[in-house]
Amino acid sequence: MTQFRTIKGTHDILPIDTKLWLKIASEIREIMFQYGYAEIRTPAIENTELFIRGIGLDTDIVNKEMFSWTDQGGKALTLKPELTAPVARAYIQHQLGSNNPMHRLCYFDSLFRRERPQKGRQRQFYQFGAEAIGSQHSEQDAEIIAMAFNIYKYYNIKDISIRINSIGSAKERPSYLKLLRDSIANMIQEFCNTCQSRMKNNALRMFDCKNNNCQILLEDNAPYIYDSISTDNRKHFELVLKLLDKMKIPYSHDKKLVRGLDYYSHTTFEITSSSLGAQNALCGGGRYNGLIEKIGGKSTPAVGFAAGFERLLMQINKEKHLDYSPDIYIVTIGTDGSIEASLIAEKLRTECNQTVVIETLRRSMKAQMREANRCSAKYVIILGESELSEKKVVVKKMDSGDQKLIPLDKIINFFS
Ligand code: AMP
Repeated sequence: MTQFRTIKGTHDILPIDTKLWLKIASEIREIMFQYGYAEIRTPAIENTELFIRGIGLDTDIVNKEMFSWTDQGGKALTLKPELTAPVARAYIQHQLGSNNPMHRLCYFDSLFRRERPQKGRQRQFYQFGAEAIGSQHSEQDAEIIAMAFNIYKYYNIKDISIRINSIGSAKERPSYLKLLRDSIANMIQEFCNTCQSRMKNNALRMFDCKNNNCQILLEDNAPYIYDSISTDNRKHFELVLKLLDKMKIPYSHDKKLVRGLDYYSHTTFEITSSSLGAQNALCGGGRYNGLIEKIGGKSTPAVGFAAGFERLLMQINKEKHLDYSPDIYIVTIGTDGSIEASLIAEKLRTECNQTVVIETLRRSMKAQMREANRCSAKYVIILGESELSEKKVVVKKMDSGDQKLIPLDKIINFFS
């Protein structure tokens, strides 16, 4: 009979991995909470139009990568491919701006993009991230970048680099795009097909092209967007850099960094890791002052970042972070022992906060001790028939081999 398998680009997360997942996810949340961010959760499906209007029709995500369909009621729906537009939609829908001019929101969620799967690139993947909605000022940009950076610093990920740029405001964009198109118009045939079509629809994205020849042509001929932004926008950016300097956050100003989505303006940044291979982006973000208005809200400045969770996991020293070993393994002989073991285990978990695993396969004593060793239990409690008849248990400390006979009613005290 046909065996069902996961859909291409999706993965099961097996119990051997979930412990690490949960630990890291909760540490990341804690870091974001420290900065005053509160978690928001949005549904997996949204109106397709939200992404078309928010991210932009001429982006890879909307053009090629969305899982979209029309439901039985004729509604165009999409599995969310990113989180900024859904968070902005929720911000507008729940009128969050009316009760407080500043909202710091964070998330940890799974996303769907119909990309070509490869190492570090999946069709369902997780992102953590944050959106600071309300402030237009440089210190807010710096806070977002610092928070993202500090997450990688917390995990001691060394080979990372932050590239940062300013792409100015949406108002300034048309005149820059004209300048860009004019500067390369007479050599457009020399660019790759993708760049040729981007030139018409989303010319800024030509800077994202991976083709070496296109990059050389741009470098030799095209003006950088940063060089055309207004004095005020430049000041905004310089203050962001100054704050990063003061916080001792290393970065490089990369005038080629534009980021792919339509909603970005002003500060954009990306964090990459040199040890990740082709898919080297860990995190991307920036300002999106125009998005909320674009999808039906009041004009509200905002800045945020989104980071790939699986890519962070690939960088983490798992050994250091993984401790699967229970505090206690309870070895039992006979039914009475099993019943007593269940009761003691419950008490040790609830009253002493211990991780306790009990034997439920009723294996031989030797096999149970082997299992306790295999899972690196710190202590073993042995509930043998003779000990039980005396209302005592043997507690063995596994690293030293020391063992003690302890009265059953003193076991909680012993582990407290
Ligand atoms: P983006 O929303 O495209 O700016 O992506 C933000 C981060 O999410 C990237 O820097 C990656 O770390 C991660 N990411 C994006 N696409 C994928 C994918 N298909 N599979 C795994 N991680 C991804």
